[in-house]
Amino acid sequence: MDAQFGFCQTQDIPEKELQKLLEAATKHPRGAIDTAKVWLRPGEGGTLRVCFLDGDPGLQRDVRDAIKGTESWERHIPVTFEFVDDPNAHIRISFRGHPRLGAGHWSAMGTDARDRATFDRQSMNYQASDLRTADRLRGVVLHEFGHALGFIHEHQHPFREDDFNEAATIAFFQAPPNNWPPEMTRQQVIRRSTIPSLNTTRFDPDSIMLYEFPGFLLRSGVGTHANEKLSSLDIELAQRLYGKRKGGGGGGETTPPTEEKFRLEVGGSKSETVPPSGKHTFTFSVKNEDRYDINVKTSGGTVTVELFDSAGTSLQKKGPAEIAFLGNKLGIDLYTIEVRSEEDSPVDYKISLE
Ligand SMILES: [Zn+2]
Repeated sequence: MDAQFGFCQTQDIPEKELQKLLEAATKHPRGAIDTAKVWLRPGEGGTLRVCFLDGDPGLQRDVRDAIKGTESWERHIPVTFEFVDDPNAHIRISFRGHPRLGAGHWSAMGTDARDRATFDRQSMNYQASDLRTADRLRGVVLHEFGHALGFIHEHQHPFREDDFNEAATIAFFQAPPNNWPPEMTRQQVIRRSTIPSLNTTRFDPDSIMLYEFPGFLLRSGVGTHANEKLSSLDIELAQRLYGKRKGGGGGGETTPPTEEKFRLEVGGSKSETVPPSGKHTFTFSVKNEDRYDINVKTSGGTVTVELFDSAGTSLQKKGPAEIAFLGNKLGIDLYTIEVRSEEDSPVDYKISLE
């Protein structure tokens, strides 16, 4: 965390409630995502509605692009963030700050956005002046949406080995721009999480939920680095709670394919037209382990072609290109091929499977 950056603060737990949590904590807490605050039914996924309560249209677009981007949560878990014009959406974004929660970046933890009176209006806030570069903006947006999915800060991971130097850390956060009283720093930074309903991977220095701390705040003297992308453990943990997105994807909204039109047989081919920024999904089953070749050729314009197994793991990806060839030795399974377009106009193509 750069000293001039506001520090993301999330939990807003009043002291009384904090005491209750501490008392309820188990001897061996496990944590990084609070399972009590996970939206939707575990593993089933669904849609979380998101709205902007205010903010410059360009900034709104940047936040939306970051969360709808190919490196975002949606790509990996079956949760779709749908942007709507409804102030009662699940996730309610403001850029104006909150009298008690401050003007920095922060978010309610998961279903707290629905259940806690604190968040009766906004459940997420961004400090526009701090979103200076595209990478910084993406990192902050992925981080805050991580909280919205139920993730706690990685620096409060119960298995974090290093300790904060208490005096230095309190002094650091007491200074501007944070101006935090000592108890806030203890609650938000120094203490390991004791929430009993946590699920975790090991402590992950590459987590999007970790901030950059200068070395002098830590007993070891070794600082941590900021992250601007989801780590593989972030993805693993999100999938443990929300399930895996079948067939990957997550960029544009698409209508579900009809079984007949998009079922592909070995030895068969189909000619289709993918709409602008659209996606087609084909399925085919492999009954004998063998090598299978997928050929996609457009009549102008490019597509991206990606092959997934039934667990949603990407096996191969080609494009964007006018001709995409994927060859794979495949075992017995049900496979999915996605044909995605980022063109502004429809793209005609032919796909064959041999
Ligand atoms: Zn945070």
